[in-house]
Amino acid sequence: MAELIDGKLISAQIKDECKEKVALLKEKGIEVTLAVIQVGEDPASSVYVNNKKKACEYIGANSLSYNLKEDSTQEELLKLIDDLNSDDKVNGILVQLPLPKHFDEDEVIRRINPDKDVDGFHPINVGRLSIGEKGFVSCTPAGIIQLLKRSNVEIEGKECVIIGRSNIVGKPMSMLMLRENATVTICHSRTKNLSEVTKRADILIVAIGKPKMIDASYVKEGAVVIDVGIHRPDPDSKKLCGDVDFESVEPVAGKITPVPGGVGPMTIAMLMSNLVNSVE
Ligand code: NAP
Repeated sequence: MAELIDGKLISAQIKDECKEKVALLKEKGIEVTLAVIQVGEDPASSVYVNNKKKACEYIGANSLSYNLKEDSTQEELLKLIDDLNSDDKVNGILVQLPLPKHFDEDEVIRRINPDKDVDGFHPINVGRLSIGEKGFVSCTPAGIIQLLKRSNVEIEGKECVIIGRSNIVGKPMSMLMLRENATVTICHSRTKNLSEVTKRADILIVAIGKPKMIDASYVKEGAVVIDVGIHRPDPDSKKLCGDVDFESVEPVAGKITPVPGGVGPMTIAMLMSNLVNSVE
């Protein structure tokens, strides 16, 4: 039976560490402030935005909310970002994605000052990561590194296979694992003989977006399996599942993240960590 990697516990530890740092900054008269911009009223986005605001409250940081109407223009959004970029009281700026279809998301991301880009999506921060400079790192992959380290998984010299090459998960994940001296392979939809590649992995990170696609036939005995996927198998189901077929893989793996309670809670914890680091 695999050991469970407890994302709830580890994310709580990280948020508590952030809380302590914010309290120390407050003693020095320094406030920590996140500006959160939402465009439109997509219910899923509203849940994410509320969770981010609650996390700010928990760690003692201020959160400023900006709600733009669904039919607002690219120019209005860019103007708001410009104002927040030049506001010294604002340490981090987050635009909740996805934006309504008429927006150019790339231009919006590029407009955020890279030193306030707590999501780590700005090309400057992506570049900093790839050349090993300090900068903000996309929260989900940064959270996975914390899950591994705080669960005493040795990374250096290990074979790491990542399935998925998205800009927010797969690619930054590969850079982070490289930085930790793993030997990294990235797989995607055109990879041939996927299970042959994934069976080499000591650490298998799965970010495909396909419910329960990875079963035991893809996993080496004793491997550490990190499941980034999050799905509601049917609209009425209260149960969530990941990209990994947990029941099939758990008996084979050495350590595994559950869904929910694995990678999911880490994303907001790392956002808080990025926010506090933006001040420090
Ligand atoms: P994405 O942008 O859709 O990327 C999926 C990747 O998987 C692509 O690189 C794609 O390859 C690859 N892929 C698709 N089908 C494949 C197959 N049959 N075999 C091998 N590779 C395949 O997804 P994402 O944004 O990275 O997210 C992945 C999953 O993580 C989703 O379920 C998402 O909801 C979840 N997620 C969770 C969190 C969290 O906080 N827990 C955060 C972000 C994402 P190509 O590039 O060739 O198309």
